[in-house]
Amino acid sequence: MDSNIIVSKFGSAAFASQDMINKTVNIIHSDPRRCYIVVAAPGSRFAEDVKMTDLLFILNSRYTNREDFSEILENVRERFIEIVRGLGISFDVDAEMMNLKKNLFFGKGNDYVVSRGEYIMAKIFAEYLGWPFIDAANIIFFGKDGNIDHEKTFSAAAEVLKNLDHAVIPGFYGASGTTGVKLFPRGGGDITAAVISRAVDASLCEKWSETTKIFSADPAIVENPEVIRHVTYGELKQLSYMGIRIFHEDVIFLMQDIGIPIRIRNIYDIDDAGTSVTSELPPEANRNVTACIAGRRNYRFIHIEKFGLNRLTGIGQKVFGIFTERNISCEHYMSGIYRFSIVVKNPLFDLKRAEILQALNDAIHPEKITVEKNLSLITIVGKGMGTVKGIFARMFNAIAEAGIKVRMIEQGSDDLNIIIGVYDEDFDATVRALYSAMILK
Ligand code: ASP
Repeated sequence: MDSNIIVSKFGSAAFASQDMINKTVNIIHSDPRRCYIVVAAPGSRFAEDVKMTDLLFILNSRYTNREDFSEILENVRERFIEIVRGLGISFDVDAEMMNLKKNLFFGKGNDYVVSRGEYIMAKIFAEYLGWPFIDAANIIFFGKDGNIDHEKTFSAAAEVLKNLDHAVIPGFYGASGTTGVKLFPRGGGDITAAVISRAVDASLCEKWSETTKIFSADPAIVENPEVIRHVTYGELKQLSYMGIRIFHEDVIFLMQDIGIPIRIRNIYDIDDAGTSVTSELPPEANRNVTACIAGRRNYRFIHIEKFGLNRLTGIGQKVFGIFTERNISCEHYMSGIYRFSIVVKNPLFDLKRAEILQALNDAIHPEKITVEKNLSLITIVGKGMGTVKGIFARMFNAIAEAGIKVRMIEQGSDDLNIIIGVYDEDFDATVRALYSAMILK
């Protein structure tokens, strides 16, 4: 990638106050490669303040429930007036409010109303910077299936942006042929930035937000854990499974195969280099195989025992079917000679426990079904996890020395992780033991 174009997404914190907006402007001007700016709706200014996106959700719900919404609309107006005054520009906020109200009455719906947070903020910001404003509804399109129409979007965005050295684009929404404006999921301005990055073949996509550092283990468990400075898209997928989410999974999907790196920066700490996400680890990553140890508590292991189980066919299909019908995902499974075990998340399982056990009994006629409680899954994430020599020895020595009983082991076939199951009570001790053995240099 040598396009020298940086697409920068600024999250709601960047537009929360005049100070933050000034900071954002300085960041943009400090690198001339920052050409395309993706804007979020203003964030909260103080602890009890409601961020613009949430205000607009409330506005639409009040309107549809025939409740009084005038106060909320006034709050929205005041926030934008405050921003425009602070910037010293003559932007007509009242004209935007008239439009919003009109379209609320026309029943344009929730997505349209909520999208106005980013739309108006981006228009104001574009005017302040003196850069063109490009409405996301003109370059990002959803197909009939509700997903982004990649082909149409990439070519429309590339066509519009190729003639512009700079542009300000509102995040979080696009156009849908069936419903007009359509929102991405919450935090979806990141998806907009990924889409734009692909369309213009950017050399870097940045995300500036209030995200604190990404640690290689939970700081509540491990004292001063190392900060993850480099992570691959593949590793990030594993981490999001364990609840560590830096951005929406769609972003990984959009970016992983084309090699555009993402850099996560903290708007409150601009001197910090942040964390880079790339397809391959760069040489400067200079880290052990392991990137991170993360886990979750409260799983159930369901063990189905039956003599000759290994000779029967279709057991997996029957068992998975029973869970799927009840919308419970089987996170992992282990199959032995006379035992088939499923790992599921609680509390979903406990809510339907009796009917699931009955269905398993009816379908398989096992000798015994046992439910093991209070189990945790801990994943050790890092490229090379399955192929680098000595990983298992290090891992299990550390666990044995800490006196921890392991209930399950799974080595991901993608060479990116090893998952172990331990009792909830051993969760912290396992994370600490693994951290010392696998991450600490
Ligand atoms: N403003 C939207 C949200 O609060 C989208 C974003 O910030 O990316 O979720």
